[in-house]
Amino acid sequence: MLSDTGRSAEKVSGGAHKVKLWTRMLNPPSCGRCVILAGKTTSHREPFLRHPGCDCRNVPSTEDTGDDVRTDPHAYLSELSSAEQDKVLGSKANGQAFRDGADMNQLINAYRKSGAVRSGQINGQLVKYTREGTTRRGRAYWEMSQAGYVKDQGVFRDGSKYLRLKSPRLMPETIYSIAKDQADAKRLLKLYGWVI
Ligand SMILES: [Zn+2]
Repeated sequence: MLSDTGRSAEKVSGGAHKVKLWTRMLNPPSCGRCVILAGKTTSHREPFLRHPGCDCRNVPSTEDTGDDVRTDPHAYLSELSSAEQDKVLGSKANGQAFRDGADMNQLINAYRKSGAVRSGQINGQLVKYTREGTTRRGRAYWEMSQAGYVKDQGVFRDGSKYLRLKSPRLMPETIYSIAKDQADAKRLLKLYGWVI
């Protein structure tokens, strides 16, 4: 009984010196999927492997100074050149959208599920769209329904298949190709839930 008490007392005092919280840090250059995780804290020492070959690491949260771009997704992306931003975000149009105020998480998560970003035809025009964010809980669904948009059901031709999508969420690439001018592009970026 006595020795048991001694052991647990030892455990408690040893635990006080241990790192309790870890912060995920990028090892640049990093891909978009890693960038949006930068700065996330966890009680696990080992960072989870975002993808094979992922080189992100966890540092004790107390060592995160708060002004290190490696633990700040937006600061990291903002410091990159336009060409590098395009690469991290998956396309030139996505990079432009970011520079026009789009949310980086929305842009990167558009690709979250494999095959989520697709091309199809609507009224004979080729469009690029994503299924991501268009569920009832999604940001785009909310914006689009505010604008009364989800009532307009589109019929897409996707390869040889016809798909009825309740709310096709246009990707920035298509938005910039159909926008009349810069103001219209910004309106559409907001409508489709990219600028939040
Ligand atoms: Zn990565």
